[in-house]
Amino acid sequence: MKETNEEPRTESISFVEEIVKTELEAGKNGGRLQTRFPPEPNGYLHIGHAKAIAIDFGLAKKYGGVCNLRMDDTNPQKEDMEYVRAIERDIEWLGFKWGKVLYASDYFQQLWDLAVNLIKQGKAYVDEQTSEQIAEQKGTPTQPGVNSPYRDRPVEENLRLFNEMNSGNMEPGRMVLRAKIDMASPNMHFRDPIMYRVLNMPHWRTGTKWNAYPMYDYTHGQCDYWEGVTHSICTLEFVSHRPLYDLFVDWAKQAGGDDHPLDDNRPRQIEFNKLNLTHILLSKRNLLILVKEGVVKGWDDPRMPTISGFSRLGYSPESILSFIDKIGYTKFDALNQMSLFESAVRDDLNLRALRVSAVVDPVKLIITNMAEDAVEVYDAVNNPGNEADGTHQIEFSRELWIERDDFMEDAPAKFFRLGPGKEVRLKNSYIIRCPETDCCRKDADGRITEIYAELIPDTKSGQPNSNMKIKGKTIHWVSCRHCVEAEVRNYDRLWMVENPRDEISAYSKEHGVEGIDAMRPFLNPESLEVKTAYVEKWLTTRKPLDYLQFQRIGYYNVDPDSTPEHMVFNRTVGLKDSWKKNEN
Ligand code: ATP
Ligand code: MG
Repeated sequence: MKETNEEPRTESISFVEEIVKTELEAGKNGGRLQTRFPPEPNGYLHIGHAKAIAIDFGLAKKYGGVCNLRMDDTNPQKEDMEYVRAIERDIEWLGFKWGKVLYASDYFQQLWDLAVNLIKQGKAYVDEQTSEQIAEQKGTPTQPGVNSPYRDRPVEENLRLFNEMNSGNMEPGRMVLRAKIDMASPNMHFRDPIMYRVLNMPHWRTGTKWNAYPMYDYTHGQCDYWEGVTHSICTLEFVSHRPLYDLFVDWAKQAGGDDHPLDDNRPRQIEFNKLNLTHILLSKRNLLILVKEGVVKGWDDPRMPTISGFSRLGYSPESILSFIDKIGYTKFDALNQMSLFESAVRDDLNLRALRVSAVVDPVKLIITNMAEDAVEVYDAVNNPGNEADGTHQIEFSRELWIERDDFMEDAPAKFFRLGPGKEVRLKNSYIIRCPETDCCRKDADGRITEIYAELIPDTKSGQPNSNMKIKGKTIHWVSCRHCVEAEVRNYDRLWMVENPRDEISAYSKEHGVEGIDAMRPFLNPESLEVKTAYVEKWLTTRKPLDYLQFQRIGYYNVDPDSTPEHMVFNRTVGLKDSWKKNEN
């Protein structure tokens, strides 16, 4: 796998778009563009799906076509309506609109009829071998396979057995329907692929009507064709399936009376590389394990690489789409650095986040030359990069919370924050100075409980002494009487290793364990730190998906669990990349 961490090109169009554009210009498919996004509703969508969504919906949108949402629900064991709703929500959140919502199960009858037609033409047969026998006689890429002893059974018998497969009385695994193609084909997918298997299981949409269900390969191309899809965009693992995809489309066309297999008006499958990021594990099967085992709180836990997880963490849809655009679509597998994604998110939030004050590790600061009941009110700029975002009011008073590490009693010369005799500016307010002696009070354990400082008059912005030169930095604060307590959830990476998928699989082989047991050694035990912070009162007016910057601390977002009485914030990303040193 090639590692890429360069900033890839932005302006050129992808090879997929190039194909679509060229064909549209040539008037292919009557100038029509129709794509589909085909998720299996067996889990929530993850960041990899966002890449597929961006191209399926993105091209349709850009070139005046339509993209349908097609639920690939051929596997009744694992699918659920909850997932369908979640998929729809995530696509909408990303900003896309589908033409229709379609289901592969809508075509079960049509697929069945086609299979019957193919049996009649001698193109399909019922095989009674075990799956082990079938696998064995399939051969290898360098060795031709062996024909099944059932390959040439009479059509009538095939029809009878195929019906029995769907009767509900056939035990799963007893027989399958296979396409009769070529057991010596260099393409393994042509070696009599399975079209139907018996599951004897009700389907959440078709009920008990079907007991035998079609396989993915026998379903996808025909659905595309029957719907009028012009470009069936998918990921690279389907390259070797493409000839079979085309063959089944040909068979569907012929069965429907359209016997021009080589004409242009047929769906064209185009494959691009999957999105793959360091430090995360995709694939719904694995994500389901994390949810079921309670490693995370649900599919939308901010540590999950799901679209809903990233949304809850505070990533904007724009930042996800712009990152996907940056890494682009190619024909080569790549592994992109998570830090590149995070830096795209930081750039995005820098433009949109409202600047607010929160003190996450508080210690009290007393402004000794300010009256007990005095209050000053300031207009704090919401976003220095965007005047239109306006201002909001903050209160200043005698007792403030500041960060504990903004004060040091035995400060080295290079410590430019508070300490005996040191001066700093309070953000939006005065310059203050700590006395040389007796500048703080401690408890019995020697822990600082209060810090004292005096404000220097006329040093607020716009006042005569505002330009006073000091060595100290600007620090943030909140007024004790004008703040609220809030829960702050600082999320960190869920996986400690760069490539969890490979590590888990190696560990699983070495130790003979599976599922969560193979995952545990690589999970970060400190992926969530919960803290109590003091935040300015104005934040009680903020809602989920309001993007925020806790000044000097990081980017934060209001969690859906939050109420004005008990605010909860999620750390989206730090202000700087604290992981870089570990990655190089
Ligand atoms: P998973 O293995 O995570 O469940 P999947 O490929 O089985 O993923 P589907 O629901 O079948 O998930 O996929 C829907 C669409 O999303 C397919 O077209 C698939 O190729 C695409 N897709 C899935 N994972 C990625 C990825 N990492 N990058 C880009 N596209 C992806
Ligand atoms: Mg899948």
